[in-house]
Amino acid sequence: MFESVLIANRGEIALRVIRGCRELGVRSIAVYSDADAGAPHVRAADAAVNIGPAPSSQSYLLGDRIIEAAIREGAQAIHPGYGFLSEREWFARAVRDAGLVFIGPPAEAIAAMGSKTAARTLAVAHGVPVVPGTTESIADAEHAAEIASKFGYPVLLKAAAGGGGKGMRVVREPSEIAASFDAARREAKNAFGDDAVYLEKYIEGPRHVEIQIIGDMHGNMVHLGERECSVQRRHQKMIEEAPSVAVSPELRAEMGATAVRAARAAGYVNAGTCEFLLARDGSYYFLEMNTRLQVEHPVTELVTGIDLVQWQLRVASGQQLGFAQEDISPKGWAMECRITSEDPANDFLPSTGRISYLHLPSGPGVRWDGGIEIGSEVSLHYDPMLAKLIVHAPNRDLAVARMHRALSELVIGGVETSREFHLRVMEDAEFRAGAIEIQWLERRLASLTSDVGTEDGAMLAALAAALLAESESGTRVAGPAQRESAVSAWGRAARLESIR
Ligand code: ADP
Repeated sequence: MFESVLIANRGEIALRVIRGCRELGVRSIAVYSDADAGAPHVRAADAAVNIGPAPSSQSYLLGDRIIEAAIREGAQAIHPGYGFLSEREWFARAVRDAGLVFIGPPAEAIAAMGSKTAARTLAVAHGVPVVPGTTESIADAEHAAEIASKFGYPVLLKAAAGGGGKGMRVVREPSEIAASFDAARREAKNAFGDDAVYLEKYIEGPRHVEIQIIGDMHGNMVHLGERECSVQRRHQKMIEEAPSVAVSPELRAEMGATAVRAARAAGYVNAGTCEFLLARDGSYYFLEMNTRLQVEHPVTELVTGIDLVQWQLRVASGQQLGFAQEDISPKGWAMECRITSEDPANDFLPSTGRISYLHLPSGPGVRWDGGIEIGSEVSLHYDPMLAKLIVHAPNRDLAVARMHRALSELVIGGVETSREFHLRVMEDAEFRAGAIEIQWLERRLASLTSDVGTEDGAMLAALAAALLAESESGTRVAGPAQRESAVSAWGRAARLESIR
């Protein structure tokens, strides 16, 4: 095992990796921008190195500076987390060339899977089903129109270098194709510096089901089952769970074997994820491979009992996987809500400010992977994801109830967050029935983000207003009956928070 590892990231994922290191007795080295000098991940690590000003282009994206810091601090390996440099082939290569270990796949595997078109070509060559469409980028709008009419509308234009839903455009009519093509290209160029766009058939009503895989350097590779990530807004995941209500043990084995085949074809080692669309008729299509640890990895950890970060470290240091395919089967149900500093009541507008109050949920089956504390400054420099709230329970119904309970314990003051939105989803009958697919949330969004407006809501608003006045004036305003209905400090705080 390594003696010392540098973590080239910030926020919750930096803390997650630091925790993994600590339990393995590995010294952790954090990096931070000027804006993050007081951030929790800096204090949690055994050492920390300032790598530049707040903008990530001048800090977290400066691979050479990070590699220098690693060498100076005596690190043997670099864990990239997700985002930032995690899927940059050149970075994985530069780390290796500097004599360090990149805790992730080989640079060649990142290259093979890095472009969506390259990944599609590879998948097709190895008998992995892909969404019908092109494997080459499209030259111009005319060509796009020609191909679209061949596959039939609706179609989806996608950036070959895409990620985070950027550079994607659904086109429903021939009259829209030219403008959408130009827009997708522009967006791709801006976001990725690469304007290559290709086309896929747009599938109506599928689920997003992805398979976690992990492999070692000795040829062992297994899948750790699926995650269901259909609750998405603008092609971005908001809630993830494992397993999926739509995946039988047989389908899991089949999709798992397909994912392992795709990963092997790319010469993959370490942890990665194959994303699929699962259609209503049970057919599935490979979308892309994420060649890194994913945001939603904890739900897999909770149902399999396998610590993905620690196994990433172990296999990167040359150890063999300590489990075989037959050892793995999901136990119970895990669910994750992404807690972001976005205002659901205001079209998820990013919210900035200082965290003025924080009360974290706890109790049975609750896990908080967070990157904030009281006093943390939430700025527009970085991703709005503040934390992930994850629960584990014996079955899906209990997981939903547990998530609802945990969300109601959570209080974050100082910025708007997605908490209230998640509470509404947990109360939603369709969600509770598992009747979700990738377009579900967009359809339900208006009703999930509208004001409380119920009698219960009015009662709570009155109570909260009284308690707020009480706390501000330091005198008792609420009567004994009202006081009694403030069932618990947690409940009270949660209600106050939702009204403020
Ligand atoms: P990105 O890398 O930008 O996240 P993906 O290829 O992973 O892009 O797609 C993101 C999401 O967009 C998917 O989870 C799915 O919801 C939707 N999507 C992608 N391809 C299709 C398709 N062909 N038809 C319908 N929806 C799609």
